Amino acid sequence: HVLSVFILVSCRCSEKEKNPLYWNSAAQHTLQNALSLQELNKNIAKNLILFLGDGMGISTVTAARILKGQLSGHSGEETQLEMDKFPYVALAKTYNTNAQVADSAGTATAYLCGVKANEGTVGVSAAAIRGQCNTTYGNEVTSILKWAKDAGKSVGIVTTTRVNHATPSAAYAHCVNREWLSDAEMPLEALQEGCKDIALQLFENIPNIDVIMGGGRKYMFPSNMSDVEYPGEHKHMGTRRDGRNLVEEWKDRFKNHVTYYVWNRKDLLAINPNNVDSMLGLFEPGDFPYDLERNVETDPSLTEMVETAIKILRKNPQGFYLLVEGGRIDHGHHEGKAKQALHETVELDRAIGRAGLLTSIHDTLTVVTADHSHVFNFGGYTPRGNPIFGLAPMLSDVDQKPFTSILYGNGPGYKIVNGVRENVSAVDYKQNNYQAQSAVPLRLETHGGEDVAIFSKGPMAHLLHGVKEQNYIPHVMAYAACIGQNRLHCRSFSNRGPQFPASLAKAMLLC
Ligand SMILES: [Zn+2]
Repeated sequence: HVLSVFILVSCRCSEKEKNPLYWNSAAQHTLQNALSLQELNKNIAKNLILFLGDGMGISTVTAARILKGQLSGHSGEETQLEMDKFPYVALAKTYNTNAQVADSAGTATAYLCGVKANEGTVGVSAAAIRGQCNTTYGNEVTSILKWAKDAGKSVGIVTTTRVNHATPSAAYAHCVNREWLSDAEMPLEALQEGCKDIALQLFENIPNIDVIMGGGRKYMFPSNMSDVEYPGEHKHMGTRRDGRNLVEEWKDRFKNHVTYYVWNRKDLLAINPNNVDSMLGLFEPGDFPYDLERNVETDPSLTEMVETAIKILRKNPQGFYLLVEGGRIDHGHHEGKAKQALHETVELDRAIGRAGLLTSIHDTLTVVTADHSHVFNFGGYTPRGNPIFGLAPMLSDVDQKPFTSILYGNGPGYKIVNGVRENVSAVDYKQNNYQAQSAVPLRLETHGGEDVAIFSKGPMAHLLHGVKEQNYIPHVMAYAACIGQNRLHCRSFSNRGPQFPASLAKAMLLC
């Protein structure tokens, strides 16, 4: 067949890969590593970290792996992401209670609160109805961040989106509408019925979230208050109709405690985490820009935020819980901008690597997952080492035109020129904001419905295996740390002989 001949001729595998010894010894090495996992890590997890790639489906993980390799001059397919090095992988079923294809709010409730919920709602059970304030009461569900705080751990949230966006908000808020970011976004009726906006809940529900870093500054300030970074720009001004300044209120709250509010990268990098008890970093009025377009003067990278967060949180002898969101993978895909989405994923992976250097698998359970996938894919019988943003090696045998390997099932990249599919060789399909072609035109590309991966390492990571409901994740993490619903088994820890600090043992006996 013509196609297979092409693939054989164009094989770009290196010389070593032609030798069976290479593959045999690599596989034997992998086998030895797998055998070593027969001795399970049943330690008590002092620390818990959840890395959430918003919209990071499995096709995104694979494409980001190839991109990461190609960015350092390799063909890419053989590269290992940091998350690829985690010993355990499971699949999560992502559907919401009322949706086959999920959104980020209902899923966040699942992997943070342990309960599946309706789309568009955060921190409430499926008995609550989206947008109906009075269905909030009595249907609140709490998150693992709160369980950790209640157990005496330090807790933190780091994201590249607004800190009151869907993913982080399920960690602290109970809200029937993910869009109620401040009171300005809420209907009068909901305010009259006593519902609170998400920004307010960030500071009021859990008394002290030790580290909060991300965007979303404008939701914290009174309406028409000018933004510190973009003075006079109307769209960046404060939004709050209640006139409250939540940042000043936050600063005033802690009298005996070293707190820092920062809004730019320079100030973030200047602080000494050893001297900080609590930190609030709000680096943008809304979401961060994409990492490829980040202003390196004003905005920290996700990796820099994660490093600072861990250094602040780990000072607590009782450990910490940290939620890290790579939030703009999702936005890149919605816009059909695969290059933005994949660079966001590579940056999330870099943050995962940095966290690995700052923690130990002996006392830290780290989980990497996604809330849902996207209708993003790549294919087209590309040869080994084909640029991930490049073309498939043949023309369509229907319309006789080239096509990019990366394509979307739907989205804004649908392009018909003079009644026929656009010829991509006439456009710069390698630029940062190129929108890959899609089969169906939509202003925003949609989420995908297939399962997502759960990568895990550290104490009890082996409990994340097989195909599981997404709401199983915080149950495992809480079990591993002896917090939340699963404290009792820790009383018999002496039978298991876990290694943990004496301070933690004392805390366990008290709980
Ligand atoms: Zn989305």
